[in-house]
Amino acid sequence: MSINIKSVWEELKQRAEACRECEFCNTRAKVVFGEGPIDSKVVIVGEAPGKQENLQGRPFIGPAGDLLTKILQNGGGIKRDTVYITNIVKCWPPPEENEKDKSNGKPKPINISKCIKFLEAQLLLLRPKIIVTMGNIPTQNLLKTTVGITQLRGNWREWRGIKLFPMLHPSFLLRQLNEQKQNELKRETWQDVLSLREQIIELGLDKEMLFNDKQQKNPDTPGDNSRR
Ligand code: SF4
Repeated sequence: MSINIKSVWEELKQRAEACRECEFCNTRAKVVFGEGPIDSKVVIVGEAPGKQENLQGRPFIGPAGDLLTKILQNGGGIKRDTVYITNIVKCWPPPEENEKDKSNGKPKPINISKCIKFLEAQLLLLRPKIIVTMGNIPTQNLLKTTVGITQLRGNWREWRGIKLFPMLHPSFLLRQLNEQKQNELKRETWQDVLSLREQIIELGLDKEMLFNDKQQKNPDTPGDNSRR
């Protein structure tokens, strides 16, 4: 990233941190802009920060973040710290009264429409080779579709000339109480991360992004039902 782009990136980050365009600014502790090398060739996009992410200002920490690390590292032999990780919505959506999950709410279309400009600008500045969208919200909003993630996952698409790969969100796996269903989703995620690995190799990014001796074991699922 050139010095000029770095300063545009910093300016974008500061704009997000000062943003008050939707009601989430009233309840957030920290804006979660993203984390990882800003010259990364792979960007992972989730939905929105959870409660712990909000407090620490970092994306994908807590149980879903731990599972993401296992999926990448144990499933695909991909080093998590070589990937840039962010969300489509940068501030924590607080839970609503009738929400089952008492830790996190869900971003509404109005929040997404106000916030997506930050993600789009990040992607255009980073110009990664691969965007991995996790779950319905980032996938449907970037691909402009209403088709569900269970149908879209595992199929390579494109966003403005960049390869886009939809995967299941780790919190979706954690929420499954039915063991058979959970095993099925884990199998699909296992296949998907291997497809991501193959693409990384095909693009010649293996030296910087993959472990030398890949640990080929299924990602464990911690016994926790937290959403993010
Ligand atoms: S969620 Fe996005 S649009 Fe809403 S206040 Fe935060 S940065 Fe601004």
